Amino acid sequence: MFRVVIGIEVHIQLKTKTKAFCSCPNSLSIEPNSQICPICIGEPGTLPSLNKEMVYKAALASIAFHCDIKRVFHFDRKNYFYPDLPKGYQITQYETPIGQNGYLTIFNEEGKPKKIGIERIHMEEDTAKMLHDFVNKVTFIDYNRAGVPLLEIVSKPEIENANEAINYLKMLKRTLEFLDISDCSLESGSMRCDINISVNKQDSGLSHKVEVKNLNSFNAIKRSIEYEISRQSELLSKDEKIVTETRLFNTETNKTETMRTKELAADYRYFREPDIPDIEITLEELDEIKNSLTERAEEMLIRFMKDYNLNYYLADLLTSDKEVAKFFERATKISNQPTKTANIIVTEIFSYLNQKQIPIKDINLQPEDLGNLIKLITENKISEKAFKDNIIEIIESKIEIDKFIESSRIISDDSSIYSAIDKVLTEQKDDALKKYLEGKESVFMFLVGQVMRELKGAGKIDKVKELLKKKIDQIKLDNSKN
Ligand SMILES: [Zn+2]
Repeated sequence: MFRVVIGIEVHIQLKTKTKAFCSCPNSLSIEPNSQICPICIGEPGTLPSLNKEMVYKAALASIAFHCDIKRVFHFDRKNYFYPDLPKGYQITQYETPIGQNGYLTIFNEEGKPKKIGIERIHMEEDTAKMLHDFVNKVTFIDYNRAGVPLLEIVSKPEIENANEAINYLKMLKRTLEFLDISDCSLESGSMRCDINISVNKQDSGLSHKVEVKNLNSFNAIKRSIEYEISRQSELLSKDEKIVTETRLFNTETNKTETMRTKELAADYRYFREPDIPDIEITLEELDEIKNSLTERAEEMLIRFMKDYNLNYYLADLLTSDKEVAKFFERATKISNQPTKTANIIVTEIFSYLNQKQIPIKDINLQPEDLGNLIKLITENKISEKAFKDNIIEIIESKIEIDKFIESSRIISDDSSIYSAIDKVLTEQKDDALKKYLEGKESVFMFLVGQVMRELKGAGKIDKVKELLKKKIDQIKLDNSKN
């Protein structure tokens, strides 16, 4: 067996009003090259001015990932030429990343936690976006993206397999979404991942590093890691050398392909950005940022398992979205039944949201009303079947909640149940009842089912059994008299 070492670099676009170093709006509009200015397209003689909101959000993210904050930092220039980089260099943070030595907690399928170290978090600016038209052999460049603030989050090489990598990325995305500082969409590119994979012999150090790029879905990330692990393992078992390089994942072949051998850091000729002075976050500002941190996604997941006694599966689903978590907590406060409430949300409510393609905040159902219905179900006052049959009508206001509760009350009065029993026994007299009287006991539950059906599922089951038994005993007695 070989030792697998995986490290992940994630770039996320920060949601800010303006770009990192100019006052252009930070919104990727439909019209290309409409949100640009002399600063972000790198005209000579222009000077950058730092966006405070970017620093604030970068610091907030660093705190959320348990990092040490560098209160005094500067920016550096990473020099290289590419058409999407109008200045010929990228403003980034090389020497003094704002956050260092943090971690993120991930969980396996049994809910067992593992901390993955975060090496560093730094700010930088995004490049322009290139669109290649392979048919006409032209490339379009949209500079709207040039200068959009990015956060780069670099993990320590502590991830051991594809599942852990996916769990890490999902929890990272969730943490940032909880802070509302990024959309974190792999599909649209507001979150981008580079995966470093190195398979080694058990007792040797890291001999190489393979970086995989071009990954725009969790599925592609998982498959690319699995492919790399098997490719490198195969080379190792043949005692062949694995080259340090950058590879691209091909979604059609499910394989990675060589893109280029990796540049060394020195190739970029980093030096300190001379146009931006040292920046200092004051202690007061740092306190203010720390105070604005709400519960972390990983903490909420642990709390849901502990306080509500939910299994990992339910706790994970409910905390995957802050609004869902809020909905659950408000409903449970009324129902007092965490597990039942959780199950109803992840089945009935999720299937409705899926069907309508809407987020939970747009659902026309107050969590307190749902909590109340669940409370009535567990108190045996309304039937669960009626609830499940009518929940969509309730959400869509086709049935008023009060009327629904009234019409779905569990029937427990003797006369209603007896009249249903009489009806069923009259219909079944020759067949089922006779068989039961002849000793076929399983028929009893069939009759209970028939009576329940007659009561539209709303009969109180214990009472139905009790009265049916009584009625049959009565018939037996009558028969023996005749
Ligand atoms: Zn600009």
